[in-house]
Amino acid sequence: MQINVAQLLKEPVGAKRNYKVDEPAGENSDTQVAGYIDFTRTSLGILVTGKLTAQIKGLCSRCLCPAGTTIKFKMEDEFFPVIDINSGLHQEVAADELTIDQNHILDLDEAIRQYIIMATPTKLLCKPDCPGICPVCGQEFAKGDCKHRNKAYDHRWDKLVQLEKESKV
Ligand SMILES: [Zn+2]
Ligand SMILES: [Zn+2]
Repeated sequence: MQINVAQLLKEPVGAKRNYKVDEPAGENSDTQVAGYIDFTRTSLGILVTGKLTAQIKGLCSRCLCPAGTTIKFKMEDEFFPVIDINSGLHQEVAADELTIDQNHILDLDEAIRQYIIMATPTKLLCKPDCPGICPVCGQEFAKGDCKHRNKAYDHRWDKLVQLEKESKV
């Protein structure tokens, strides 16, 4: 999401813009971001605050089926222009600060990407009670049990099954 903030930079401190967001989190992203973002002119730059949700897509960590979840996050970041809007002169901005480029474009993609990474659970599940797959034969337990999950299954065979597995690798 790139927004030209030239006009807002010319306005007095406290001037605001509101944006409604509903778009992918950057190019080539299959994560959809939606919500509201406010831009507020500060004395040195633009403060971006937002309440957003992101639809995360991935694979279930138990059965490897497609899985997804919705995360919510708030963003609050100040962006600083590398060019003074009135004088047109280059301005020093610390290397670790978020910047507004020489064309007065404020690019939110990287900041949003970082928020999404922080808010995304490390393990996705296709459903909360996903029973997973059999570690021996790969049977999806959601579709039925395999012989390894049979209650009568004799665990004395575990070692043999393990050997069989290793020999296939
Ligand atoms: Zn699953
Ligand atoms: Zn099995």
